[in-house]
Amino acid sequence: MERRYLVRTFGCQMNEHDSERIAGMLAADGMRPAEGLDDAQVVVFNTCAIRENADDRLYGNLGHLKPLKERRPDLRIVVAGCLAQKDRGEIQRRAPWVDVVVGTHALPGLLDLLRRAEVEGPQMDVREYTEVFPSALPAARGEGWRAWVSIAVGCDNACTFCIVPLVRGPQRSRPIADVLAEVRDLAARGVVEVTLLGQNVNTYGRDLTDPASARRPRFAELLREVDRVEGLRRIRFTSPHPHDFTPDVIDAMAECERVCEHIHFPLQSGSDRILRAMRRSYRRERYLAWLERIRERIPGVAVSTDIIVGFPGETEEDFRDTLDVVERARFDAAYLFRYSPRPGTVAATLPDQVPPEVAQERFERLVALQEAITAERNREQIGREVEVLVEGVGRRGGRAQARTRTNRIVHLDRPLAPGTFARARVTGAGAHHLVGELVEVPVAV
Ligand code: SF4
Repeated sequence: MERRYLVRTFGCQMNEHDSERIAGMLAADGMRPAEGLDDAQVVVFNTCAIRENADDRLYGNLGHLKPLKERRPDLRIVVAGCLAQKDRGEIQRRAPWVDVVVGTHALPGLLDLLRRAEVEGPQMDVREYTEVFPSALPAARGEGWRAWVSIAVGCDNACTFCIVPLVRGPQRSRPIADVLAEVRDLAARGVVEVTLLGQNVNTYGRDLTDPASARRPRFAELLREVDRVEGLRRIRFTSPHPHDFTPDVIDAMAECERVCEHIHFPLQSGSDRILRAMRRSYRRERYLAWLERIRERIPGVAVSTDIIVGFPGETEEDFRDTLDVVERARFDAAYLFRYSPRPGTVAATLPDQVPPEVAQERFERLVALQEAITAERNREQIGREVEVLVEGVGRRGGRAQARTRTNRIVHLDRPLAPGTFARARVTGAGAHHLVGELVEVPVAV
């Protein structure tokens, strides 16, 4: 009988990328995607350690699988990703019906672990070093027109709220030639948009030496090389660290036609005191100066950000500093988070944790401010003609949902196939989307 797999992904784009690789390895082993739990012989949870209550969610999901495993002992349950790396033996202690725990560095060995589990029982590999870069593994991608491309894994920074350095290790960049080979292959197969992924993309190459020139490749060079790949129409990247957003990267963005006019520029806090406690290496005025330079050099660029509210020790004055930076920065979009301690991080051990009701009240004030700014920025788009790339069916029956180069969602007046480019005139704007009518016959890709 043909075996089937189900991969459930939690967390960030890096996990989505890794899930494509997990699916790719299982498919290369002769398996097919399952419709749901009932027809799956292998179930993989690719976990995230960053989100609030990630552990509760994982153990809740594993608890649901226990009766199924009792009825079908041949079902193989795999826990992968950051929580697998962080919790190690804890997972099989709390959920002994799990067959394989595979950490972030051990992913290439997944099929071996599954085979060994057949004869030897539960397996775990949470090694601390990467031998095979995950992008070198086969991928099973959900969409034929866009793809994630990992350019580096891990991070050399030590932001006190972040678990990434612990679960993904120090930065390890992928050689430029490997990245380009993957992008060229994707473009040849019809992919029109790639997103270059790394925990800190703009320090790409710091850990590499190019054998030909004996020097380190830089992120700006990589952007320029990817921009030359025939067939691609859009290039995105995430996430950069503001401190490493050097002028050569801004120049490359301004000059490379396919690189989209959108930057995710994580602020985290507008208070210098809190930035110091977070171990973020910039301060508010420098951040705003960098932003100004980016906007001058890349006209029309959209800027999004991440902000954490209620970091330990945050006073009302610190929070007002954040409101002040948000008012001055006029972000096009922002991902706002209430701080919650993540076990294993430095911040979880800091004194002066902010009471949840105080963090909630500040969070609501910040959301109200940012939503008003986002709505205003969106209204500025009304009347403009923009290139859109269709991503799927809109929520309002029959319409297409598309995205501008500046990463704004547009609800179109007609249905169109995903992966289609079109031109649209913006006729309306909401807090989180634009409304547009098609002005040019779309070209299918
Ligand atoms: S730069 Fe990003 S990934 Fe690295 S430690 Fe800071 S928040 Fe985490």
